[in-house]
Amino acid sequence: MKAIVVERIGTPDVMELREVPRPAPRAGQVLLRVEAVGVNFADALSVGGQYLTATKVPYVPGMELAGTVVELGEGVTNVQVGQRVAALGGTGGLAEYAAVPAAGVVPVPESFTPAQAAAFPVSFMTAYHALKTLGRGEAGEWVLVQAAAGALGTASVQLAKALGMNVIALASTEEKLQLARNLGADVTILQDDPDRVQKVRDAAGGKGVPLLLEVVGGSRFDESLKMVAPLGRIIFIGNASREEVSMNPAALMKRNVSVIGLWLTSLMLDAEVSAAASQGLAPLIASGKVVPQVGPSYGLADSSRAFQDILDRKTTGKVVIEP
Ligand code: NDP
Repeated sequence: MKAIVVERIGTPDVMELREVPRPAPRAGQVLLRVEAVGVNFADALSVGGQYLTATKVPYVPGMELAGTVVELGEGVTNVQVGQRVAALGGTGGLAEYAAVPAAGVVPVPESFTPAQAAAFPVSFMTAYHALKTLGRGEAGEWVLVQAAAGALGTASVQLAKALGMNVIALASTEEKLQLARNLGADVTILQDDPDRVQKVRDAAGGKGVPLLLEVVGGSRFDESLKMVAPLGRIIFIGNASREEVSMNPAALMKRNVSVIGLWLTSLMLDAEVSAAASQGLAPLIASGKVVPQVGPSYGLADSSRAFQDILDRKTTGKVVIEP
């Protein structure tokens, strides 16, 4: 079968399309015929050796995918052959077939296309945990969403609106801000607007936002501390800038601000927390209040371009690769 192989850490052009043996599902795994792969910023960081966990080469990237179950490994009872599913966790998605952990398999709503199914789990579960599990957001509260036109950003804007919150969206271009408005953002501000800090404070009633989803990090984090209201919560989800973040605890103390880290991978280990998020999302999906935003789609052979486009901030919504 065809697969993308990374032999050494580097820029996305190290990714090679190769002919490799089709994997056999081990105990606790299922084999999927891959129909679509959601590409996350984390995938691009992993190829470059910049992710939270060390990258082990050689490997086939792709942690979020949608497909049809074709074979069950020993002991698997939660899915059936022929079922359409999405899967997350691990690697191996950028291939015609992938063996994935059965524990990371989730059913797919009938109405979703394969691309929508692949665009859903990481961004929406992360957005839910940021807004509710950790953020404790309430209807009527203001939330600031950074990189609001991205995969996580479009999920966060929609979900926050569906939960009755007021949304301030930040993004780098007018076109991206328009997408955020289309999804319901109440206030949109350019990421590089010289008056952005004051504009955020003014929009949220003068003192800043009670909840802020941090995905850019780096030197922007200092500004986030100024944009958040006294007693506010910053959920630290990502450091897309890849710059060092420094934080003086005194700045948190003075205004009683909390900074809470979020990593979906470790939250997924808590079955109760994950089930609560799935239950919270289910009615919003069923009613069509939240819809995965599929961005540009690429073929397997163009995977390295897809990864580079994410790093270059050229994409909106979830980048999808369809083998
Ligand atoms: P996106 O589709 O949002 O793409 C990344 C976006 O980040 C860009 O489009 C860009 O938006 C913004 N950005 C800001 N500064 C930079 C920079 N210097 N270089 C590149 N991009 C930049 O990707 P994802 O939705 O996959 O991820 C968004 C963020 O959330 C990432 O930081 C990611 O690591 C994090 N994340 C973390 C998770 C967790 O479990 N902790 C789970 C999912 C995502 P703009 O041009 O508008 O600024």
